[in-house]
Amino acid sequence: MYQLLLAVCINGEAALCMDRRLPLGEDMNMMRCMREGLVHAQKWADARPDLELKSWRCITEQQEPKPLEDFAVEEVGNGVFVHRGQHAIPAPVNLNDTSNIGFVIGQDAVAVIDAGGSAAVARAVMFHIRERTDLPVKYLILTHMHPDHVLGAQVFKDAGATVIGHRKLERALKARSQTYTDNLRRLMGDAGFEGSAVILPDEGVEGTRDIDIGGRVLTLVSHPTAHTDNDLTVRDSETGIFFLGDLLFAGHTPALDGSITGWTRLMDELSGEDVKGVVPGHGPALMDWPEGLTPMLGYLKSITKDVRAAIADGTTMNDAVREIGEEHREDWELFDEFHPRNVTTAYKELEWE
Ligand SMILES: [Zn+2]
Repeated sequence: MYQLLLAVCINGEAALCMDRRLPLGEDMNMMRCMREGLVHAQKWADARPDLELKSWRCITEQQEPKPLEDFAVEEVGNGVFVHRGQHAIPAPVNLNDTSNIGFVIGQDAVAVIDAGGSAAVARAVMFHIRERTDLPVKYLILTHMHPDHVLGAQVFKDAGATVIGHRKLERALKARSQTYTDNLRRLMGDAGFEGSAVILPDEGVEGTRDIDIGGRVLTLVSHPTAHTDNDLTVRDSETGIFFLGDLLFAGHTPALDGSITGWTRLMDELSGEDVKGVVPGHGPALMDWPEGLTPMLGYLKSITKDVRAAIADGTTMNDAVREIGEEHREDWELFDEFHPRNVTTAYKELEWE
């Protein structure tokens, strides 16, 4: 089976080029593909006025896809799109495509929610935006500081977006910029990291802020310390869809980098919100609410209870890390990468109670 491999670029933005695969049907052979390829490729490009076809060639289906070649987004509500990140550690093969990213198309503008873990991921998102609309990308909203959510920001900034986050995001990023950059460059390789950067937000939110993108309003809320000290949620007025960033993990082991008691308290509060579905930072593109919260909240409460008990009976932190939470192992991916750190962070917090 043969497929077309297209090189396409977003008009006027020479840095924004990508490979896309087009399936051609069962009976395609090399000769036919060579003969008819250009017509198929041109037809695909003509239907997407903002994309320009640079080149095309015929490849076999077995040819290994390059990183991000099969990057997809899902429309989870009218005009609300989500890309589902992989549950993986940053590496050259995934270009740190390891977190969920959203975009919302209004009548006047587009708002992007989280920037992805590299410039390459952000460019893939820009492609999906430009396949659907030529409206300006006016806002990039960052749900919190972690590198898998922020390192693609420069791509959206270059497209003209104003970068908005929690009031405390700027300070958090300033303190970690060098560490994030060094670590992720090492994990992704120089080529994979190319174009990625920590950039500071243009505006900070304290409390609530509404953003009008035409016919719909996005409500941004900054929260007290929970997953981190700079968590921000976004709710779309038209669909009632609620973007929780990493306040919600599903399938992927939660990562605690703030306060376990603060996180638990906040999620207990948010569980009463009347929303039409939530987008987690890691997990499915859309989940029911509050049902989607049950596994993570259960995990946080169980760790809190066990760490408190360990502190009360004099168990050392090292022993606590070794002993606590093993019964959750089967329920969560990347357990060894994140769980021990969660127990350490919880221990350090709870020993001062
Ligand atoms: Zn995070």
